[in-house]
Amino acid sequence: MRAEFDYYEVLGIRRDADAREIKSAFRSLAREYHPDANPDDPKAEERFKEVAEAYEVLSDPERRRQYDMFGQRAGGVGGGPADFGSIFDMFFGDAFGRPGSRRGRASGGDVVVEAELSFEQGVFGTTLDLPPIEMLVSCEGCSGSGAEAGTHPGRCSRCGGTGEVRDVRRTFLGPVAVAYPCQQCSGTGEEITSPCQTCRGEGRIQDARTISVEVPAGIEDGSQLRIEGRGHAARRGGRPGDLYVTLRVRPHSVLERNGINLFYRADISIAQAALGTALVVPSLDGDTEVIVEPGTQHGTLIKIKGAGVPRIHRRGRGDLVVTINVTVPTDLSEAESDLIRQLAELRGEKVGGESRSRRSSKL
Ligand SMILES: [Zn+2]
Ligand SMILES: [Zn+2]
Repeated sequence: MRAEFDYYEVLGIRRDADAREIKSAFRSLAREYHPDANPDDPKAEERFKEVAEAYEVLSDPERRRQYDMFGQRAGGVGGGPADFGSIFDMFFGDAFGRPGSRRGRASGGDVVVEAELSFEQGVFGTTLDLPPIEMLVSCEGCSGSGAEAGTHPGRCSRCGGTGEVRDVRRTFLGPVAVAYPCQQCSGTGEEITSPCQTCRGEGRIQDARTISVEVPAGIEDGSQLRIEGRGHAARRGGRPGDLYVTLRVRPHSVLERNGINLFYRADISIAQAALGTALVVPSLDGDTEVIVEPGTQHGTLIKIKGAGVPRIHRRGRGDLVVTINVTVPTDLSEAESDLIRQLAELRGEKVGGESRSRRSSKL
């Protein structure tokens, strides 16, 4: 695991940089640190990977929003370390052939599923057993090679086993050797003479897989986890795709969530507001007593520190905020009306229907 770093610092841009600034910062840094320009310099390669990862996250508005909200490399949320090969291709096309890279081999596709969580699971995190997923999995008969057990694939006749066909292309960096994945062997460099019976030489078959995922505490509805390498198996032992799990968090019956804070509306009477009371408030840690001071106004917010949602991948929790809702009785008995009228008289307040005739005459 690499040390923590800040994506904005990596690209040397302000936190409010727009898409164009992000792109141009990435372009110049990528050129500076590209492994082809710095052969045998592991530091440059490391830096290049950081730059690519920062760009991959910050250039995607949704992932940038999540990064801004949850901070440093939110792990499973919205993606893990970048595959700098794919991002570089996206930017410069396939201009840089890297012999021996796994890029030549076709990778398996990504699998996207949705999973539902209870409110509490979303707040505290959980290990989630996903229902069986139909997907392409590596063939056991041939260990994914596509060659019948006991046989070995031969070299591809077109590319001679390299998996690549080479060419030279002009780019803004000058002429660059370009490598295309070989069409005949799909970049594997191999030619199968006796295909596996089970998968007909594909190296993968359709099957159901049960996968469990770790959901971190503090997850929000709509968050996406990426589990690297758990997507479809690739043809003939290439790199498997990734599994994306979109999380649907069910709402709570009485608590409302906004980010890391929880909200609860407590109805109290006029007498309780005036004289104070002790309330029992449901929280995620069980019932909690809240003291309402005498003379509490409608709309008052009472904060229970640390009773909210854990910060994702960080220490500490948000708050539980109790909103005081003073309710006015509408079903007073005669005796109750008399008592309130007495109170009003003691306080010199005008009550009752004296003004009603005037008001209705106005209408
Ligand atoms: Zn097979
Ligand atoms: Zn080939």
